[in-house]
Amino acid sequence: MSATETAIASAEAHSAHNYHPLPVVVASAEGAWMTDVEGRRYLDLLAGYSALNFGHGNPRLIDAAKAQLERVTLTSRAFHHDRFADFCTQLAELCSMEMVLPMNTGAEAVETAVKTARKWGYRVKGVPDGMAKIIVASDNFHGRTTTIVSFSTDPEARADYGPYTPGFEIVPYGDLTALREAMTENTVAVLLEPIQGEAGVLVPPAGYLPGVRELTRERNVLFIADEIQSGLGRTGKTFALEHEGVVPDMYLLGKALGGGVVPVSAVVSSAEILGVFRPGEHGSTFGGNPLACAVALEVIAMLRTGEFQERAAELGDHLHRELGLLVGGGAVETVRGRGLWAGVDIAPALGTGREISERLLAERVLVKDTHGSTIRIAPPLVISKEDLDWGLDRLRTVLSV
Ligand code: PLP
Repeated sequence: MSATETAIASAEAHSAHNYHPLPVVVASAEGAWMTDVEGRRYLDLLAGYSALNFGHGNPRLIDAAKAQLERVTLTSRAFHHDRFADFCTQLAELCSMEMVLPMNTGAEAVETAVKTARKWGYRVKGVPDGMAKIIVASDNFHGRTTTIVSFSTDPEARADYGPYTPGFEIVPYGDLTALREAMTENTVAVLLEPIQGEAGVLVPPAGYLPGVRELTRERNVLFIADEIQSGLGRTGKTFALEHEGVVPDMYLLGKALGGGVVPVSAVVSSAEILGVFRPGEHGSTFGGNPLACAVALEVIAMLRTGEFQERAAELGDHLHRELGLLVGGGAVETVRGRGLWAGVDIAPALGTGREISERLLAERVLVKDTHGSTIRIAPPLVISKEDLDWGLDRLRTVLSV
């Protein structure tokens, strides 16, 4: 057996099968490229589901991590540490908000937002105890905890995990009328992805997000923007909502906040909203740890320059122009997205998304399929135009166009 086959067989035997990875075993990576255990190189067009916006082994992030590893890595929040204040201040500033509540994974940030919104509803808005409702969208993806899958509309993500957490109302994504009709005086929040990533990079109709903002403001309801995948440069701006001129009440951040080095997530909001917490009411052993803060501070510094957002916008225009040329030729049905982020619906006759991904793997390009015949393209924002064009050439080869 090859080194690849041995590693996969062993993983299959000793790990739960909750993923179906492509048959490649990565041993090292740099920038937009990964090398497998056999020494083959692959262009990474997934970027760890957008956690690797700054590329693999980004020297600034690795240096920041190394320096912090030698000083102190964990204190717990029982004590203060000397990176915490800077991290919270600078992240709040990047978001033009006031306060930060750090966690580790995206799902934890979403859970934190749910708890924040409910507490705010009871303490500030005056919703009767136990009655708070949060409105979410169909086809959402916010994570994998039992509460979060309770409001998923994806049977695969949800089946067999009941009893489900009550208190959520699901409305069709992009439908402002449905949202308006679902609101009651007990609605405390609307939780949305500005672009739905896992659903296939779905961009809502123009005017929807500003409409949500207007409606939530009118009804004293919090607008929670899950920018865990769409935020931090991916779409060509720091936040996807910026394209619509919308400022939410709460940003949820994760993935790229830890630069693909450490898991870092955060809820970022106003002092009125995050001020609802008192000591002991919420927390996490690793949330806001010194190593996480050191890496995230470097991520924030990189984003402050605007250079990655600009790159994502420019290369994104190029990507969408090139992908757009494939539409209508029989191989590609639709292309959606913004910046360096695209959902490409391949004609089902050419194969499932999985099959297309496997053919791209054979061409040394790594992407991931999502529902049906859709593949997602989300390269690290540091990818060169030449490498992106090489990847697009491989895609054309696979699609025979
Ligand atoms: N929210 C969004 C929009 C996501 O795309 C994801 C992950 O894909 C999550 C939340 C969950 O993040 P995590 O896997 O870090 O828990």
